[in-house]
Amino acid sequence: MNNTNDLRFHCIRCGSCCTDLDTLVNTTYSDIIRIKNGLNLNLDETIEILGFYVFDKEPTTKEINRMVVPPIETERGLAFVGLKKRSNGRCYFYDETKKKCSIYDFRPNFCRTFPFTFKLLIDKESPKKSEIEIFYTEKGLKYCHGIEENAPIIDKDNWIQIGQKVIQDLTQNNVLIKEWNKGVKENKISPSVRNFILTISNLE
Ligand code: SF4
Ligand code: SF4
Repeated sequence: MNNTNDLRFHCIRCGSCCTDLDTLVNTTYSDIIRIKNGLNLNLDETIEILGFYVFDKEPTTKEINRMVVPPIETERGLAFVGLKKRSNGRCYFYDETKKKCSIYDFRPNFCRTFPFTFKLLIDKESPKKSEIEIFYTEKGLKYCHGIEENAPIIDKDNWIQIGQKVIQDLTQNNVLIKEWNKGVKENKISPSVRNFILTISNLE
């Protein structure tokens, strides 16, 4: 299927993106705050719904720079922050009986934009003319049953608007992570997960 023109998609609620064993649902700090507030969670409950996935082998700076959401320094080392998964690989918030997301209104941007990803194409001579392009993600092409030839062509303008918000959110998130990781390296910040959640909660 063509990956640049006339993207086709219609979510058929197959649940593959919520149940794939190898898919981690990454969260920005604003995703975490939205879920925390939406579900009225306290600090411990917020930590409980998150997974802090420590890398087996610490990634290089080059690898980190290529990541959409970079890892944070924690007491156990560099960790990727995402929603917790259950032992069968399903997202913590996937309702297996009803076969749907139990936090739909508060779900992370990753879920809102799946199976798409966005790229800011910067026009160096005229930055105002920079454009956002939309693509299928690799995982989307691999297992999203909503991408198929008979699905309707997406409203690209609408998706690009979503993409703008997501890119803005990711930019803010990645600035915060950079500052957090720098503060930890300089021994100015305690790298505990608890302190991370406290810090982002205090940003509100
Ligand atoms: S938060 Fe909801 S939409 Fe996102 S992976 Fe979990 S169950 Fe699926
Ligand atoms: S994998 Fe695709 S079709 Fe299935 S629930 Fe996720 S977005 Fe919808």
